Amino acid sequence: MKLFRILLIFLFIPFAAFADNQPWQVFKSTHFLIFFKNADETQLNELAQKAEGYYDKITDDLGFNRFNFWTWDNRARIYLFDSQQEYMKETGDPAWAAGQAQINSKLIRTFITAKGFLENVLPHEMAHIIFREMVGFNNPSIPLWLDEGVATFQEQKSSFVKSDLANKLLRGNFLNLDDLNKINAVSIKTTNGVESFYTESFSLVKYLIAEFGKDRFVLFCQNLRDKRDLTRALVSTYSFKDLKDFESSWKKYILR
Ligand SMILES: [Zn+2]
Repeated sequence: MKLFRILLIFLFIPFAAFADNQPWQVFKSTHFLIFFKNADETQLNELAQKAEGYYDKITDDLGFNRFNFWTWDNRARIYLFDSQQEYMKETGDPAWAAGQAQINSKLIRTFITAKGFLENVLPHEMAHIIFREMVGFNNPSIPLWLDEGVATFQEQKSSFVKSDLANKLLRGNFLNLDDLNKINAVSIKTTNGVESFYTESFSLVKYLIAEFGKDRFVLFCQNLRDKRDLTRALVSTYSFKDLKDFESSWKKYILR
């Protein structure tokens, strides 16, 4: 038995080393390069189809479809790891993570059996990238709620219910716009009520798009890109007088 175990270890070491060094192969679609090792054609086709579908939907929803961002050399890259173990080793992500993106380099990473990746993580991360390509990667005027609102707006299985938010607002169990504006990528890690943060971020973006339309939202993004100032972009795109006015109009919409 012992000998058998030793033999097994010896047999597996070179095999494991080989699996790690196995080169990535590339599966190409119009806007994506999907890197994989042992994924089968069905899995690759499903991923490519979903990603292309989201690309069309997000650029259309945000009104960016006339800017054809991601073609040829400019395609986004998706790394599809064979296993969660390999994914965690490469990314350093915790066990609950289904995928992640490096926004600036248009790189998305996940693994074959990742739960919720195709429905939520993929469109969420793609929206982050597309939005930032529009407003500028190093634009300091974008609050985290706007980045996350745009991204959450694209998730397919949203648990958001407007009347729940209305109840929270009436009960005072609510983050005001001032509070939301103060939350950034660092402070969110220690913020209580992260769930409220995401729900309200979603609602703010939904409010702007549902009430004033896609074209206005594109103009808002262009103003954010050019003015690099949230208040000025909001005031010059929409008819709000200032941030307070924006906030109270949003709250009226929630309670309607
Ligand atoms: Zn996000």
